[in-house]
Amino acid sequence: MVVLRQSLEDELGIDPVALVEKYRVERDRRLRPEALGQYVDLDGDLSHYRDDPWVDADFTREHLNDEVDVLVIGGGLGGILHGVHLRKAGVANIRVIERGGDFGGVWYWNRYPGAACDTQAMLYLPMLEEMGYVPSHRFASGPEIRAYLQSIARKYDLYRDAHFQTEVTGLCWDEGEGRWTVSTNRGDAIRARYVTIALGPMERPKLAGIPGLQRFAGHSFHTSRWDYAYTGGGPEGGLDGLHNKTVGIIGTGATAVQCVPHLADSARHLYVFQRTPSSIDVRDNRPLDPEEFDGLEPGWQERLWHNFTTIVSGIYTDDDQIRDGWTSMMAIMRSLAVRKAERGEPVENPMTLAQIADYVKMEGIRDRVSHVVEDPSVAALLKPWYNRFCKRPCFSDEYLPAFNRANVTLVDTSEGRGVERITERGVVVDGREYPLDCLIYSTGFDVGTPFVKRIGYEIAGRDGVLLSAKWADGAATLHGIASHGFPNLFLMSVVQTGVSMNFTHMINEQARHIAYIVARAVGEEIDIVEVSRHAEEQWCAEIDRTALDQEAFLRACTPSYFNYEGDLKRRNVRNNQYGGGPIPFYRIIADWREEGTMPGLELTHRSKSPPAVGGDAASPQIPS
Ligand code: NDP
Repeated sequence: MVVLRQSLEDELGIDPVALVEKYRVERDRRLRPEALGQYVDLDGDLSHYRDDPWVDADFTREHLNDEVDVLVIGGGLGGILHGVHLRKAGVANIRVIERGGDFGGVWYWNRYPGAACDTQAMLYLPMLEEMGYVPSHRFASGPEIRAYLQSIARKYDLYRDAHFQTEVTGLCWDEGEGRWTVSTNRGDAIRARYVTIALGPMERPKLAGIPGLQRFAGHSFHTSRWDYAYTGGGPEGGLDGLHNKTVGIIGTGATAVQCVPHLADSARHLYVFQRTPSSIDVRDNRPLDPEEFDGLEPGWQERLWHNFTTIVSGIYTDDDQIRDGWTSMMAIMRSLAVRKAERGEPVENPMTLAQIADYVKMEGIRDRVSHVVEDPSVAALLKPWYNRFCKRPCFSDEYLPAFNRANVTLVDTSEGRGVERITERGVVVDGREYPLDCLIYSTGFDVGTPFVKRIGYEIAGRDGVLLSAKWADGAATLHGIASHGFPNLFLMSVVQTGVSMNFTHMINEQARHIAYIVARAVGEEIDIVEVSRHAEEQWCAEIDRTALDQEAFLRACTPSYFNYEGDLKRRNVRNNQYGGGPIPFYRIIADWREEGTMPGLELTHRSKSPPAVGGDAASPQIPS
C-alpha cells in the first residue's frame, strides 16, 4: 500500500489513503438503519402516483377463460425479446399480459422530458441487424426506443394475443392439470402450460418515506408518470405550463439528470433537492451516420455487447470498440499499465489497477464540476465522493450548466441526510421551508426488495407453497431462471443472474436461454420442467461463494440500490446478482445449453398431446 501511495502521489497527484477516508465519511453520513425500509410503497392513499397517464382508464374487455401454451407476464424489453426467441423457435401460442397500455416497459412509462438511453443506441436497441434499423442518434431518445420496441413486437406478431392494462393478481399451480392458473384484475382465469415472468428491474416507482408526504397541497407526481397536462410541453421539453410556477424536484439520479435541464429552461424557479450527487460524465450525443453501419460483419451487435460488458465489468482488455464514458476507465487502466511497464515498475493486479483508474476517473468527474459550475460553493456540493460503480454513472452535457442559471437553486440536504419533511406548502431542509407550486419525485424504483413484493402478487407452487415463503430468507434458483417446486415457471429478473450494465445484453441472454428450454419442452413433449433441489442448492452455494468477491466493494460504497442501501444481510445477498460477473455467467448458460441434456432440470413426459407449434415447422427449432 505504501508503494502504491507513493507511486500514485508521484504520477497522478492522487492520495488514495485520503480518498478512502473521504469516501468512508461520506458513506457513513448517508447510511440509515432503515436501509430499503426508508422508502414507501405506492399503495393505499399513494396509489394514484402509479396511475397510468397514457391510457383510457375506463377501458373494459371480456374476461379471458382459456388455455395458452406460453404466458409471458410483462411487455417490456424482456417480454418482447422472449417472445421473439420463442417465435424463432416455432412456438406459436404465446400470450403477453402487460400492466401498461402498450409494449415498451420502462420506455412506455418513463416519458419525462429528456428521457433517453445513456447506453449507446448501437448497444441498447436490440436486433438492429435483423430489423435493418439505423438509430437516429448515438444515444436514442425515449420516444424513439419505445417506437422501435413496438415495431419488433409487431414484426413478431406479439400484438396478436397481447392484453394490455391488465395486472396479474396471482399464479397457482394446478397439480392435476399440470397447468398454471393465472388470475388478473380483469377477472381473467387463464390456464398456461408455461409461464415466464419478465420483471423489469425498474417496474415499481417508489417514494422516499419523508414525513408529511401526504400533506403537500400543491401539484405532485413521480417522474415515471409525468403530468404533461400540468407542465405543458412534451418529451423534447418546452414545458410552458411551468413559466409561472415554482418547482421542486427531489432526487438527483439518472432520471433527474435528464429532466432537470428542461425544468430549468421552463420553470419560474427550480429547487433541486439533493441527497447524494451523481457522477456526471461527458455525453457527447450526435446524429448517427448510416454509413457507420456499412461494412459491419454479421453478428456485430453481439460482439459489441460482449466488448461493452467485458469492459464495464472490469475485465482487462486492450480492445475498446465502444469508446465512450462507460468504457473510459479501461483506457485509464491501459495507460497506467503501459506507464508502469515503461518505467520497469511491476503492474498491479487488475483489481488494484481498476481501483487506481477509478480514483483517476472520479477526480476527472470532480474537476469537470469545478470547470462547469461557476459558483465554487455550489460546485463543491455537486462533487461525488465514492467509487464510480457504487451508483449508476450519469452522462450529461446540460445538467451541470443548469446550476449556473439564476432561476435554479441546488438545495443540499444536510450533508446527505435527505429532505427533512414535506408540508402543505413545500419542502423543508435544515429547518427552512421552500414553498412550491409543484413537487416532482425523482426518487427511483423499487429495486432491491424481494422478488414477490416487486411483482405484486403471490405465486403458489406445488402443494400450495408460496414463492414468498420459500424465498423468505432469499431467492433460491438455478441460474436465476427457475425454482424447485415451481414447475414450468421461468423468471427474468436481476436475481441470481449475470447483470450487464447494458440491460439489453442481459435480457437477451435470459430470453434466449428460457426460450431454448421451453422450445425443447414443447418439441420433445416434456410436460413438466422443474429445477431439481440439488441443482438449486449448488447454484445457491455458487451465489454465496461469488458474493464474497463483491461484498468488500459494496460495503465500502455509499448507499444506493446497488448495495441494498448498505444492508448486505444474507437475504439480500441471495437476492442479488451472480457475483462472478456477467461474462462468466453467459458462458455458464451457453455451455449448459451446449451440453444438451439440460442438467439440473427434472423432465416429466406426462401426456402425448404436444401443444401447437408455429410456421410449417414439424417441431420447434431450438435456438442455440
Ligand atoms: P435513483 O434511484 O437513481 O435516484 C433516486 C434519487 O432520489 C437519488 O438521488 C436519491 O438520493 C434521492 N432520494 C431518495 N430519498 C431521498 C430523500 N429522503 N431526500 C432526498 N433525496 C432522496 O432513481 P432514478 O429514477 O434517477 O434512476 C433509476 C434508474 O433508472 C437508474 O439507476 C438507471 O438504471 C435507470 N435509468 C436509466 C436510464 C437509461 O439511460 N437507460 C435513464 C434514467 C434512468 P441518494 O442518491 O442519496 O439515494
